[in-house]
Amino acid sequence: MFENGRKALEDLLGGNRGIYSDGGFVSGEGEPIDIVSPSTGETLGTLSQATDAQVDAAVAAARSAFATGDWARDGEQRAAILRRLADLVDERAEVIAYLDAVEAGKVFAGSVAEDVPDVVANIRFHADLISSYEGRYLQDSSGFGWVKKVPIGVVAAVLPWNFPIAMLGWKVGPALAAGNAMVIKPSEDSTLSALYFARLATEAGVPDGIVNVVTGVGATVGQALGMHPDIDVITFTGSGPSGRKVLENSAKSNLKKVSLELGGRAGYIIDDEHASDYEAIAADIAGAAFGVSGQNCTASSRVIFVGGEDRCAEFRDALAAAAAEITVGDPLEDGTDIGPVINARAHQRINSWVEEAVTKGATVVYQSPEVPQAGTWCPVTVLEGVPADSELGCGEIFGPVTQLIRVETRDEAARLINDEPYGLASTVWCEDIGQVKRWTDLIRVGTLAINGYSEGTVATPFGGMRQSGFWGRDNGPESLDTYQEAMTVWIAQS
Ligand code: NAD
Repeated sequence: MFENGRKALEDLLGGNRGIYSDGGFVSGEGEPIDIVSPSTGETLGTLSQATDAQVDAAVAAARSAFATGDWARDGEQRAAILRRLADLVDERAEVIAYLDAVEAGKVFAGSVAEDVPDVVANIRFHADLISSYEGRYLQDSSGFGWVKKVPIGVVAAVLPWNFPIAMLGWKVGPALAAGNAMVIKPSEDSTLSALYFARLATEAGVPDGIVNVVTGVGATVGQALGMHPDIDVITFTGSGPSGRKVLENSAKSNLKKVSLELGGRAGYIIDDEHASDYEAIAADIAGAAFGVSGQNCTASSRVIFVGGEDRCAEFRDALAAAAAEITVGDPLEDGTDIGPVINARAHQRINSWVEEAVTKGATVVYQSPEVPQAGTWCPVTVLEGVPADSELGCGEIFGPVTQLIRVETRDEAARLINDEPYGLASTVWCEDIGQVKRWTDLIRVGTLAINGYSEGTVATPFGGMRQSGFWGRDNGPESLDTYQEAMTVWIAQS
């Protein structure tokens, strides 16, 4: 089953193919980066980073393809090519999922079932949207106007490692459909599927120079993109500190437009007056909190129970039982729910945050009795009584850890969500549909899921309020705003 995946891995690493520029692979000429398997700690190979000159060459290829070909002008042809690209991604789902599994520890079966189909759906959704776009027309006594949406130009997409191919899909779907050219910088911890995708784009008929990929760390390649004078937009998903740097670099260079999707500290609220099925709720929370080893910006890292202690005790048992059902294992094996965390740095941070919270008084409701020792595996952990002055009490854990918090009132629960600097997502379990409007009035986050964890679909906007984001949304028609300008055409009446 993994034969094609292994071959793709060998091709990329064997040939040191760390850059895709102007329709072909190129080797980087910068410092090498080790590609390390988080499952085994083994170095799979190395990819050399792009130098500043190679970043310049990729941007120049994008600019030339944008300015000279039909891509930016012919929406019908673009949509047809993008539909072919979606078909190819669909066909090669197992190769892409294999690359993300070995490099980023993503569970293969989950990627095949969800992440890759999400990319396919996103590209198709935006191809359809752009084909049916009608524009806006208006008139007065002096003439009539047409508000024409035009692509902005060269888009740099800077990506995180937690959903390598899905995050790429969220950016390329709307950016390409809108008619832009792209330079994609995947995370240094998850580069391979982006490189493979770029090759598929060429196979599908995307003109050379429209999709380029550069490998490298944030401090060099990310920085070069942020400061580049010929990039028109940066769409970024990652941590707050790196996002701030991107904004700063925009201000210091050419005022490129910046869209940031940043972190989160999502809460999962159980409105106990209107919640009965603790088993179903706990099973949903297990997926929401521990899926992708908790390395998800919408992970339910806080479980907020609104109700009395007796009922909370019953719920606590259900939550511990659901956490115990999670299988931590090899991402390539059937039956694995979650794999390792991304790297040794993350492993050390997650474990030390849990230790610190426990030292300061938190109690352990549940912890996996054992995890594999080679590689970077963290146990599934549920804590309670986490002190506010601990790292876990105020930071984004980004690991398979959640904490139970009991409060008496809905207002207290809402304050726990709204008073956070983050405002990306949350979930409320409330079986009385009549209470839902009340909850939507109480909670302020970008995505509020009701009666089941969800990030919405490719057709609904995704992004954060407060410090979880800065301008723009991924997914949905709203995502096109990041990649298009409104140009007013006014035709005078003669
Ligand atoms: P990170 O900020 O370390 O890295 C993200 C990307 O930014 C990487 O490609 C990195 O190389 C690059 N980068 C780093 N410094 C840069 C700079 N100065 N200029 C330009 N690029 C730079 O984040 P990460 O550790 O890869 O991802 C985890 C974070 O991402 C978490 O905080 C998580 O919540 C967030 N995240 C958010 C969303 C969302 O949609 N809101 C989705 C996934 C992850």
